[in-house]
Amino acid sequence: MTEFNIDRRHWERLAEVRVEWRKSINEGCRIYDEAWLGILAQKRIRRHTKGSSDCAEGFNCHICGRKCRSRIVSFSHAKKCRLDSV
Ligand SMILES: [Zn+2]
Repeated sequence: MTEFNIDRRHWERLAEVRVEWRKSINEGCRIYDEAWLGILAQKRIRRHTKGSSDCAEGFNCHICGRKCRSRIVSFSHAKKCRLDSV
């Protein structure tokens, strides 16, 4: 109820008038969803910003120094590179 901006002390009185109660619930749900989607959007932006800095550095093999396109390719290459060097 706190997230839906409904006063806990008076919710029963509000619920007696069904139209007002439904309006409060729908409005609270809309506000809560917008806040939640805002948080998700911020997380997404942060994740993509962080990812782009990794791309700028590149994914170089720590054994032979070869440039790889992605982290998984770099990991796979390093594993093969390690086996080849033995
Ligand atoms: Zn390598």
